[in-house]
Amino acid sequence: MAKIHGHISINIENCKGCELCTNECPQESLKMSDNINKKGYHYAVLVEDNCTGCTNCAMVCPEAIITVYRQTKQKRQPVAVISNVTENLNINID
Ligand code: SF4
Ligand code: SF4
Repeated sequence: MAKIHGHISINIENCKGCELCTNECPQESLKMSDNINKKGYHYAVLVEDNCTGCTNCAMVCPEAIITVYRQTKQKRQPVAVISNVTENLNINID
């Protein structure tokens, strides 16, 4: 099965610093920033590149400010292999 790589974006200016997302992330990809936003809250940030796109953080966020992206890393596989060619070879692909 292809490995799923996730990524999230957080609208940090609307974060209330509740820490629900950091507690629910099974990958421990999220931490609270030492910095504060314009409303005076420490905000959540993605600190690890191991997000699986599980959506836990987005589902628990009471402010609905987390967007989750998923990308499937397909393993590159050959669709045709030509080998042991000893003479001129003509290939026609319609
Ligand atoms: S989508 Fe899942 S793995 Fe990714 S940051 Fe959110 S809770 Fe963590
Ligand atoms: S759940 Fe939402 S509001 Fe709470 S810390 Fe995470 S991003 Fe901020």
